[in-house]
Amino acid sequence: MHETAVAESILHTILEHVERLGNAKPVAARISCGQFNAINDEAMRFAFETLIEGTPCEGMRLEIRHIPLRATCKDCHTTFDFNVQRPTCTACGSTHYDFQPDAPLLLENIEFQEPSPR
Ligand SMILES: [Zn+2]
Repeated sequence: MHETAVAESILHTILEHVERLGNAKPVAARISCGQFNAINDEAMRFAFETLIEGTPCEGMRLEIRHIPLRATCKDCHTTFDFNVQRPTCTACGSTHYDFQPDAPLLLENIEFQEPSPR
């Protein structure tokens, strides 16, 4: 299960930001992934929540965005979201297409709590 390794690497990156921002309190993070390296949301959240216990990240929300695989039709040149249930061009129904590069696993965004006014 690679979710644990992914969660560890995300936590590491977030903690680096926390330190750089003078111990800001992170409240949420968003990651995105493609289809070949797809992660299981439930396993990922569980791994992340277990890891952040006792760290400055405790209580953070984790959003996971799945980016569909895109393909380009060789007949009509339409680029479409590939659907494994219906693997044909969405415009002309052709089965001749090339896949676009899959989206990488990415930490897109970290949200920090606004510093409370003194
Ligand atoms: Zn087509």
